[in-house]
Amino acid sequence: MQLPFILARRFVAAQDVEGTLPKAAELKGQGLSTTLDLLGEYVRERAVVDQAKASYVELVRALHDTDAPIDRNISIKLSMLGLNIDRSLCLDNMRELLDVARETDTFVRIDMEGSDVTEATLEIFEEVHAEYDRHVGVVLQAYLKRTREDVERMCALGARVRLCKGAYKEPEYLAWQRMSDIRERYSEYIEMLLTRGNFPAIATHDDLLLDATKSFVSSRDITPERFEFQMLYGIRPDTQLQIRQEGYGMRVYVPFGTAWLPYFSRRLRERKENVWFILKNLFRK
Ligand SMILES: Cc1cc2nc3c(=O)[nH]c(=O)nc-3n(C[C@H](O)[C@H](O)[C@H](O)COP(=O)(O)OP(=O)(O)OC[C@H]3O[C@@H](n4cnc5c(N)ncnc54)[C@H](O)[C@@H]3O)c2cc1C
Repeated sequence: MQLPFILARRFVAAQDVEGTLPKAAELKGQGLSTTLDLLGEYVRERAVVDQAKASYVELVRALHDTDAPIDRNISIKLSMLGLNIDRSLCLDNMRELLDVARETDTFVRIDMEGSDVTEATLEIFEEVHAEYDRHVGVVLQAYLKRTREDVERMCALGARVRLCKGAYKEPEYLAWQRMSDIRERYSEYIEMLLTRGNFPAIATHDDLLLDATKSFVSSRDITPERFEFQMLYGIRPDTQLQIRQEGYGMRVYVPFGTAWLPYFSRRLRERKENVWFILKNLFRK
């Protein structure tokens, strides 16, 4: 059964590029940067991978060709480019996409997916980072027990890292489960990335971590040009603006596309208030 898009539209900008660009331009008009994410994940059919690659390339070209003042910055998932089918196919697809990104001066962030692909994702990132450098960045998840070493590994490389808590259900032997444990690690990695990393992105809606970041940068005289905050489209929009007004960079992750159900479900699972918000809007005229 196909659920109607009206359910998801608080968290998903539109179902196509044409509908998404005006939303990104609107955010830019408010002083917010964006990264656009074409939704979809865990693709296992070759034809769907080919289609996803073509859509990513189309998106990069659309961002280059538009007259609207939108950042040339996208977020992608390697599982959409064939990681779950064949690693060399995925690497070839990534290179094809990054050739267009380099030509159009676009930044491509590789989102991090489930722990079954963490190592493969980092290895592919390392290969393409060596060739495409400032056009590509990666994501690390504070809930994974391996992440301290990955932060070190990415700092040594001078890689651009987005730090998030992690959105997938992971077993206890691989991931911290308690919020207090995750926050503790997150704070530690923020400090490592802010002192030794390359323009880290602090991706969270969590006041405790936002405040910890602000205190740390002010105590170390780290200027706002050296990092940015990131939040998801539709989540705490007032806070996004407020942080921008305080003088920090704020980038909004703007998902779009027809394959919105898994992303939408993760947002509902994270926060019961989100379910309430959807229900209220569903029954509102
Ligand atoms: C830009 C961005 C990119 C991401 N990329 C990835 C990725 O590549 N891979 C991945 O696994 N995950 C990714 N995530 C998701 C991330 O891992 C978390 O699942 C998600 O951000 C929820 O964690 P949180 O720290 O934002 O807040 P939560 O843990 O959901 O909430 C913690 C606290 O934040 C405050 N809060 C949160 N939401 C609200 C609200 N609506 N109103 C008021 N207070 C609120 C409350 O104090 C709450 O107790 C990304 C997140 C962002 C922001």
